[in-house]
Amino acid sequence: MSDTILIIGAGQTAAQAVETLREAGFAGRIVLIGAEPYLPYTRTPLSGDVLAGAASPDACTVHDEAFYRERGVTLVLGRRVLALDRGARTATLDDGRTLAWSKVLLATGAHARPLGVPGEDLAGVSTLRTRDDAVGLRGRLGPGCRVVVVGGGWIGLQATATAYEAGCDVTLVEAEEHLLPRVAAPEVALVVRVFHATRGVRIICDSRVCGFEGRDGQLTTVLTHDRRRLPADLAIIAVGAVPHTELAAAAGLAVGDGIRVDAAGRTSDPDIFAAGDCTRFFSPPLGRTVRLESWRNARRQARVVARAMAGDDTARFDELPFVHSDQGSMHIDVIGAPEAWDQVMMRGTPWIPDCTAVMLDHGVVVGAATFNRPDDIAAAEALIRARAVPDPRALLDASIPLDALVTG
Ligand SMILES: Cc1cc2nc3c(=O)[nH]c(=O)nc-3n(C[C@H](O)[C@H](O)[C@H](O)COP(=O)(O)OP(=O)(O)OC[C@H]3O[C@@H](n4cnc5c(N)ncnc54)[C@H](O)[C@@H]3O)c2cc1C
Repeated sequence: MSDTILIIGAGQTAAQAVETLREAGFAGRIVLIGAEPYLPYTRTPLSGDVLAGAASPDACTVHDEAFYRERGVTLVLGRRVLALDRGARTATLDDGRTLAWSKVLLATGAHARPLGVPGEDLAGVSTLRTRDDAVGLRGRLGPGCRVVVVGGGWIGLQATATAYEAGCDVTLVEAEEHLLPRVAAPEVALVVRVFHATRGVRIICDSRVCGFEGRDGQLTTVLTHDRRRLPADLAIIAVGAVPHTELAAAAGLAVGDGIRVDAAGRTSDPDIFAAGDCTRFFSPPLGRTVRLESWRNARRQARVVARAMAGDDTARFDELPFVHSDQGSMHIDVIGAPEAWDQVMMRGTPWIPDCTAVMLDHGVVVGAATFNRPDDIAAAEALIRARAVPDPRALLDASIPLDALVTG
């Protein structure tokens, strides 16, 4: 059989993998299969310009069709892979077709976690993961529209900013005590909260949405377990993403909160690789496995994994976890994913915000979040990698550039 790489899932990861496979000299056949009927697209604008109606969903397309044609890629869109047979080295599609492969890249991403409460099927209640989700929501935002965002993670907060800027009356409900509970220190979350709350977004933490009520099939009210009744025309559910591991699990690959891969993206089968949101990968700088939902991670991990698939034995993904988030005029970058920290030092002015939060564990820099200060990220990364123990007072002094502390 000629060399055939099957890429399953047609998102950001897949688009990057195609590019890198050819750059790395892979000359065999590439077949790209995606369940959605679209060319691979970037999801980040879905909660921003696409939701706002300021950009066409087509603007999210990573590469046009010619890109794939020029690289000799066979596109199979709108089709789902139902099963992988590792013995026969075939994949079965939902139209009954069987495709042969010599290597597979699982780039199956994740899907929006449903809330699992009554009324979730009412018109006006939607998750925000796909192009279709964003298109369904976007025409409805505007002055007078009452929006309840369920979930105070990155996507919920991005949608909050977009709805607010479209003139909507916005309420955000978060089940935990503070925003960004899975991904940020409370001090970092507080900066985010002040930004939104002082513009008039109602933020309700420590409260769980337990149902939706409607009239004639259309949402009217969001219910919380502490007996609030929030009038709403739209509810955007943003309570996390569930990695698509079912295909890998059914094929007998190691999974557990993501498809388990090493730093080269290799699964428990040496000819099957995985990258992007669907993976739980070994991160050399952290010394443990991690699962990320991050645009930059998807692209950069895909590059490394594609090189490994093309035969580069040195390929190894050793980047620190990184996420960016645009929320109105606030741009946030977060680097590192510490499991523990005991101090958060804030440089700059959090209420504008124009600041960088540095997280320390026993004096050692383990993570950072920058607010409208993207230039601090490189220095923060160097501090984390060096396991730097900077002088705390110098760390607080925003007149001293962060990179001056790297050797401190
Ligand atoms: C609204 C939104 C905003 C975001 N904003 C940011 C941001 O500001 N910053 C940031 O860092 N990250 C952001 N992200 C996260 C980022 O978009 C993801 O990390 C990235 O999309 C992951 O790409 P992926 O290709 O791994 O997975 P996906 O984009 O999920 O693509 C996987 C594709 O595989 C398909 N698939 C699954 N199973 C099968 C199968 N069996 N057969 C065929 N196809 C299959 C899926 O349908 C999907 O189309 C955002 C995500 C969303 C949803």
